[in-house]
Amino acid sequence: AQNRYASLRNLPATGTCGTTIQLYMNAGLMADLPSLEGSGAEGVGLFRTELQFLIRSHVPRRAELAALYRRVMDNAKGRPVMFRTLDIGSDKVLPYMKPQDEPNPAMGWRAIRVGLDKRGVLRMQLQALIRASAGRPLHVMFPFVADIGEYEEAYRVLMQELSREQKLGREMPSDIRVGAMLETPSLAFAPRRFFEMCDFVSIGGNDLKQFFFAADRENERVRRRYDTLNVSFLSLLRQIVQCCEEARVPLSFCGEDAGRPIEALTFAALGIRRLSMRPASIGPVKHLIRRVSIGDLRRVIDEAEAQGLTNLRRPITEWLARQ
Ligand code: PEP
Ligand code: MG
Repeated sequence: AQNRYASLRNLPATGTCGTTIQLYMNAGLMADLPSLEGSGAEGVGLFRTELQFLIRSHVPRRAELAALYRRVMDNAKGRPVMFRTLDIGSDKVLPYMKPQDEPNPAMGWRAIRVGLDKRGVLRMQLQALIRASAGRPLHVMFPFVADIGEYEEAYRVLMQELSREQKLGREMPSDIRVGAMLETPSLAFAPRRFFEMCDFVSIGGNDLKQFFFAADRENERVRRRYDTLNVSFLSLLRQIVQCCEEARVPLSFCGEDAGRPIEALTFAALGIRRLSMRPASIGPVKHLIRRVSIGDLRRVIDEAEAQGLTNLRRPITEWLARQ
């Protein structure tokens, strides 16, 4: 399937209206990196660092991690890599971590909650990232932030590590961009100051949708009841787009839905200009975006919503069939 889209590799994802959508890929292991070249991705929009922790039998050492992150950046050849700090805990149990007995692991002690409570691991990971990026830009993204206080605290930890590394005489990153993953509905309603503090925001659609509809993303039976193109979910996305536009902060979407062409196009029409997906989805998504006017689709969506529809999949696919 990748070959079918090979001719698009070096072309931008620009709609016939002239709007360009930046397409990034998701990654987590060294083995994913060669796809960066082949897929035509502009960079890695989500690097899931926990995968490296999950495949080991011990906590990786700082030097080991730094060497690994350095190789990831080398392989990216100057393209940006958004490193997401550890998203572990509860369901993603590390072999060397004491299992937590929690009734609702997805809503439990995970991600940045663990990072802030177990500062040592978060600090070690940030030090490894700083050392790996010496002289190069560094993008750090904190997962599963539910309120501004958590972001401020994580941000402070990063700043402390940067000044500590600087005092040790290490070469600093040439640029540092800090962002949050928006994966809980609460963060969409955070004070404006939160959005202004971010250099970028990335929607973790898998988690955001699961918490918005209160439907377990792992449970097929309930997951399929709620469509991403449900108007309530799209309203939430509009709200997020508006917050980011007001604060002038770049917004991306990096859940599985970003790799589904109709969903991806809908996100683009709502104003999300960056999408990050598995490498194999980049071709099909780009192919569709290049065929249509994103501006026209925006009008179709606005009209369908004004008519009071509850789900926009039908009007969108009908419109697509006419293009
Ligand atoms: C998400 O929640 O959409 C996401 C990108 O993170 P993960 O799938 O790793 O939870
Ligand atoms: Mg998530």
